[in-house]
Amino acid sequence: MNLSLNPSYRCNFRCSFCYLTKTQLSDPQRLDVKQLERKLTEIETFYGHGVIQHVDLYGGEIALLPENYLLEIIEVLKGYARPPFNLITNFSSLHPIFHHPQIEVSVSFDYMAREKWQQVFRNLTLFEKSFSILVLASRRVLEQSAEELIEVLNSLSQLVSVEIKPYSVNQANQDLVSHLDYERYILRWMELRSKMRFHFVNAEKISRSLAGKYNAFSNDHLYITPQGHFAVLDFDSQDREYFRVIQDLTEFQKWCIEEEKKIRANPFCSRCDFLGGCLTEHYREVRTLSEGCSGYLGLLQEFRSRREKLL
Ligand code: SF4
Repeated sequence: MNLSLNPSYRCNFRCSFCYLTKTQLSDPQRLDVKQLERKLTEIETFYGHGVIQHVDLYGGEIALLPENYLLEIIEVLKGYARPPFNLITNFSSLHPIFHHPQIEVSVSFDYMAREKWQQVFRNLTLFEKSFSILVLASRRVLEQSAEELIEVLNSLSQLVSVEIKPYSVNQANQDLVSHLDYERYILRWMELRSKMRFHFVNAEKISRSLAGKYNAFSNDHLYITPQGHFAVLDFDSQDREYFRVIQDLTEFQKWCIEEEKKIRANPFCSRCDFLGGCLTEHYREVRTLSEGCSGYLGLLQEFRSRREKLL
């Protein structure tokens, strides 16, 4: 089970492509540590000890939270999952928690597409521990030169890996980025792989998908909100992504079964070679393939036909 923990949604940035609404980004509410413990116990009681394999901590901006509070969260987590825990930050400030030995740091860095990028870049050059970078393929990122961004990333001596995450239309904003736009951008990066001095996670993910080693369903991913609720990522009636609160794990299981049933009945997915193992982070209903799909079928077909060694 992958657990995504949102201790708080509050953030000091107001990125136009953020999946959180302005109200959420201003909300000071933070996850009660005792409530976190109760939720983790609920998971263990339901699925058994050791079920949580990976923990992401993000928000909102983690670095706005006091160090003592984050230390308490880490202590609680250690009782239920094996560290390191992955902390995702906008890196606008160098919080002492980033140096914690049981914390791995992932920085959301979109070069000029995200506010205060010079300050973030300076922090990246000053940070002495290894870190990963997550780039969100928003419209503004797609308009930047991939070559230039790779060159900038190559200059970061502690950078280990880079992953380009797909943008998803959500309740806070609806950027004009199609699945095909994302596929074209990833293809461009793949062409430039020989220039990269870091591990390119997307290549690894394509490889895992092609080998049938990736679970594309949402049945291994649970969220805990700042209010202390379980949640899943779902789509509303207008196909916009949002956090849907789940009362308990029985409801989570039911929701997962429904999701899988829906995907297996979809006229495109049901006939697809990659059903259940494509590149989607969260299945969005496929109504046509003319603009691609959230599983990035075009990328998978391209690399399957090339039979190129990706790792
Ligand atoms: S690649 Fe696309 S069509 Fe195939 S299963 Fe995934 S989402 Fe469905």
